[in-house]
Order: sequence, then structure tokens, then C-alpha cells
Amino acid sequence: MIQNPIPWPNGAKCACAITFDIDADSLIHVSRPKDSHRRLYPISMGRYGPDVAVPRILETYKKLGIKQSFFVPAWCIDAYAAMIETILTDGHEVGHHGYIHEDPVVTHGDAQAEAFEKAMEVHRRICGHAPRGYRAPVYNITPQVVDLLIENGFSYESSLMGDDIPYRLKTDQGQLWEVPVHWGCDDWPPFAHYEEIGYMMPVRGPSDGLRAFWEEFDAQYEHGGFFMLIVHPFLTGRLARWRLVDQWLEKTLETKDVWFAPLEEIVAHVEQVTESGAYNPRVDTLPYYPGPVTP
Ligand SMILES: [Zn+2]
Repeated sequence: MIQNPIPWPNGAKCACAITFDIDADSLIHVSRPKDSHRRLYPISMGRYGPDVAVPRILETYKKLGIKQSFFVPAWCIDAYAAMIETILTDGHEVGHHGYIHEDPVVTHGDAQAEAFEKAMEVHRRICGHAPRGYRAPVYNITPQVVDLLIENGFSYESSLMGDDIPYRLKTDQGQLWEVPVHWGCDDWPPFAHYEEIGYMMPVRGPSDGLRAFWEEFDAQYEHGGFFMLIVHPFLTGRLARWRLVDQWLEKTLETKDVWFAPLEEIVAHVEQVTESGAYNPRVDTLPYYPGPVTP
């Protein structure tokens, strides 16, 4: 059912990644800049990520011996530098996720170029190197951002929904890898309830919400694909939910032929099998349309 499955290392049936976007309280500051500092409840909901959930998540990864990817707005890297240091010391990847979670469709042109570069500076200063991967805030990547990524030597981006497995993006500026996302593997639909930023989802029970993810995994595993979650510490890192994820991870690693790795390693592998001629990826040429599509 997958036309051209990727040959994974060591005969693994499926490459897997649980990717966390650590947005913390950036979301309330970017959506309500005038009075966010007086809104203690959403600040505390966001800060639960760095303060409580991230240490819990890192403990699970350490126990199971896996390395993963975290996408973090640069403002949060600065505000929670000690957390970033622990993530990097444990061997995980930190990717670019905007400056303060600004939406690239809204913050575009010079303002986007400025925010993008300001974030690069924070990565270089606090993480010690430029990021290799990017995920757009609210998945809203634009042709401008794709070209900024190519210009800045990124190896991949992870915001588009055009395939089940990694594929290539090409523009007239060059190319990079796409590590595709989709809403069925994102924790906003089952778990986010956040009126201030326009999300009023009916919160599902932990096993109910997570069951949808495990069904996504079963399909990818059966077809030799790629399984990725796009989740948030303040949602999926909550006690009852993470307890179930921890149990699922332990069981899956014990009983299945899976390869859990940070996205930069998964992409490096796809690049390597492509270069060697063992794999022929699908390519999307961007932009899809040169201008407004009018009837
Ligand atoms: Zn985000």
C-alpha cells in the first residue's frame, strides 16, 4: 500500500519518532501580546511543559535508551536554557520552530526573515550550532520559509502533509527533505482545550485519544513505513497520558522491529540510501502555484 517503502537500517520494519514541540507559554504571548503577562492560567499551562513534563519525558527516553527530536521556539530556548542543556546533554536533537511561535503566513516578508534569523542566532548561541531541522509554527510553512531553509543549509523540514513517508522538496533555490506530519498523529485534536488561542476541543480520555495514534502506528508498521507523533509536553506529557505512552514504548521496543531515532538521523539515512542508488524518493516541486488561484 506504500508505493516505494524506504529500506530502513538493520532490517527494521518501521522508522519511528515521537517529536515534541515545546511551545511552553510562547503561545499566549504571541496571541495576546498586550496582556499575556496578567493571564496566569495559560502561562502555567504552558510552563508545565519545561517544569514538569519534559523531565518526565527525558526520564522515559533515558530508561529506554532512545534519542528523539524536540522543536522549540527560540524565545523558549532562551527562557528555558537549562532545559535545553539537559535535552542536548542527553543526546537529543533541537530543531527550529520560529522565534516566538509566529505564524509564517501572518509574519511574512522582511518580518519573517528577521524572526527566522533571530531564532538562528539563539540556536547558535545556546545550542552551540545551527539547527538542521525545522517545523513551522501551526505547520504554516510558506515558499519564503522553504527558501530560507535551503539558503541556511537545513537538511529537512517537517510541516507538510503530502505523503506517508519522507520525500523530497525542490525549488529553484535547491532541495531539502520533507518529514511529513498529519493531524491524526498530532495531540491538539484529542487533547487541546485553549479558548484564548481559539481551540475548544472536547478533551478525550487518555487511552481514547492515544488509541488513534497506535492505530496509525499499526498501519505504518504493517506496510514498512514511517510513524511519527507530533505532540506537546503540556498535552501528552501530562501524567495519565505519558504513563500510557511510556508503557506503549516499552512494549513496542520489546516486541517489534522498530527504529526510533531523531529526525536528523532518519533523514541522513534516507539521503544515504538515495545517494547510493538503493532508493528513489518521490519529489514535490514548490511552490505548488506561482500566485493566487482564482476561478
Ligand atoms: Zn508549536
